[in-house]
Amino acid sequence: MRILVTGGAGFLGSHLTDALLDRGDEAVVLDDMSTGNPANLRPARPGLTIVHADVRAPLLLDGPFDAVAHLASPASPPDYLRRPVFTLTTGALGTQQVLEFAARKHARVVLASTSEVYGDPEIHPQTENYWGNVNSVGPRAVYDEAKRYAEALTTAFGDSRGVDTGIVRIFNTYGPRLRPEDGRVVSNFIAQALEGRPLTVYGDGNQTRSLCYVDDLVRGLIAMIDARGERGPINLGNPVEMSVRAIADLVLRLTGSPSGLEWRPLPIDDPVRRRPDITRAAERLGWQPATAVVTGIERTITWQRDNHPTARVHPSSAVPLAS
Ligand code: NAD
Ligand code: UDP
Repeated sequence: MRILVTGGAGFLGSHLTDALLDRGDEAVVLDDMSTGNPANLRPARPGLTIVHADVRAPLLLDGPFDAVAHLASPASPPDYLRRPVFTLTTGALGTQQVLEFAARKHARVVLASTSEVYGDPEIHPQTENYWGNVNSVGPRAVYDEAKRYAEALTTAFGDSRGVDTGIVRIFNTYGPRLRPEDGRVVSNFIAQALEGRPLTVYGDGNQTRSLCYVDDLVRGLIAMIDARGERGPINLGNPVEMSVRAIADLVLRLTGSPSGLEWRPLPIDDPVRRRPDITRAAERLGWQPATAVVTGIERTITWQRDNHPTARVHPSSAVPLAS
């Protein structure tokens, strides 16, 4: 297949691109490098083309395409809070350009939506038929509402323009290539632990997240790309739920870092708990995550230590790593 990956130089997009190339697909990455990094796609590989462009502009790409994986969007809270209008217009205008492109090319589109469409959820775990609890004028709305609009637009192109559309709702995913300065919880904690700085826990640390390792997530994305006619939405995430405090403790244990904790205020509208119900993913895609959190965090620590030389384990860190 020939597949367009928007946002393909970012964390998830670059892993997806690698996996598509690995199985023999041709990949065209379109990315404005706003939070992406061309180094994620190096060394150059046969079958890969990189186009430096903003997804909000008309997509002028020649030739046939079988599918589009639409991942272009800021994703980390600090990134989207820094650029609120850019985030909203990327979700709205960018998604429209992608859908128009897919209609022209008769290509399947898979939208990378998010668990944030559930906001601060009132039902737990979150099933796809839950409509969510989002503050449309809160700071996180620039991301949450952009994705909710993107879902609605994708659905409208499926209904009224005959485009083969699919929506996946991705829950917190982590792994190698998460930038140390990305701002999300796993990369923050690992960078802080490796540098011997205190781990910044927001709120009382009792809020929960469910962490999915990137390789598992990419398998789910590819299953959705291949599932022609499957519209979703389908949750993709690891149902193993942990408190933020427990994530901090795990990172401290696995790095052997002497760092302590630094308590900071909880960001506005930070969801209290989050866990995907993945029954639908299992039934429709035959998908479930396979990587234990300890294993995934170990791999992420190793990557961050190897690739960011300023971040290193404290000498007293000879703690055996459990699996
Ligand atoms: P990321 O920031 O690493 O990647 C986003 C990519 O999109 C970057 O390469 C960035 O340069 C590119 N981009 C942003 N705006 C663009 C624009 N206007 N035009 C062209 N390129 C643009 O983040 P990620 O974690 O890899 O997230 C990828 C996608 O998955 C996003 O759509 C995000 O909303 C979704 N998602 C991710 C997670 C997660 O936990 N990682 C969870 C839910 C949803
Ligand atoms: N968080 C934290 N310390 C950090 C970064 C994040 O305590 O240095 C918390 C954050 O408040 C949230 C959870 O970790 O409750 C997950 O945050 P992240 O930004 O990774 O993703 P979110 O699920 O909020 O989009």
